[in-house]
Amino acid sequence: MLNGKTAVVTGGSRGIGAAIADKLASVGADIAIIYAGNAQAAENVCDSIRGKYGVKVKAYKCDVSDYNMVKDVVAQIKGDFGTVHILINNAGITRDGLVAMMKEEDFDRVIDTNLKGAFNMIRHCSGLFLRNKEGCIVNISSVSGLMGNAGQCNYSASKAGLIGLAKSAAKELASKGIRCNAVAPGFIETDMTEVLPEKIKEASAAQIPLGKFGKAEDVANAVAFLASEDAGYITGQVLHVDGGMVM
Ligand code: NDP
Repeated sequence: MLNGKTAVVTGGSRGIGAAIADKLASVGADIAIIYAGNAQAAENVCDSIRGKYGVKVKAYKCDVSDYNMVKDVVAQIKGDFGTVHILINNAGITRDGLVAMMKEEDFDRVIDTNLKGAFNMIRHCSGLFLRNKEGCIVNISSVSGLMGNAGQCNYSASKAGLIGLAKSAAKELASKGIRCNAVAPGFIETDMTEVLPEKIKEASAAQIPLGKFGKAEDVANAVAFLASEDAGYITGQVLHVDGGMVM
């Protein structure tokens, strides 16, 4: 149970992040959601969580790629909740294209949001974790970060980077009671994969031993495990939630 803990979920307004926020709240955590611009979606997630679980929940608009904006939002969350115990770096975007033709701005935007965003969050939450002598960080990576994916050099690099970031943070912070792990989802049914052409979806499902896309809740269950006491001896690991795609 996570009663008395505060969890920050970036990209908590939709898809996997919304499912993670819901799952952590279901086991008692208070929830701070960070979103980029979709205020209505973020408020809907908050209303749903509040109605179902009665925990404290609040949404914050913040571009995680902006170092100073993250600094300010973590200070606001500390003011509202007292501290932070759990950080889920889930916010992520794609700007797919072939490496030979990719625009510089598309490469930078994806690295800045997916990878630097997670650094910014860890950088500004770690002072709270150190003070509390406890903390749990989960970076949401991807199978693309484990095995690469044609058309996603920027995304794959950011997702591989999230694994290196998790392992380095795990080594640095373990002695202070802070754990850091990564979850690498395969194809999950969300807005991000909804836009894929039907042919690609079928070809992708054919590569998955379990034969189907996963659900956001499948990822949320893995994250909730890593955030729990049951995972207290697990740090620096990558948990694959991919129907067996990578093994
Ligand atoms: P969605 O596109 O459904 O949601 C993305 C979320 O990230 C939204 O809440 C969005 O906020 C937020 N966000 C985007 N950019 C920023 C930013 N700069 N600052 C703050 N928040 C931001 O994504 P998914 O739920 O599909 O994916 C969630 C994570 O899981 C991502 O990191 C993705 O890479 C990873 N993943 C997804 C897979 C899949 O198959 N879906 C597979 C493997 C990994 P807003 O609503 O305001 O736009």
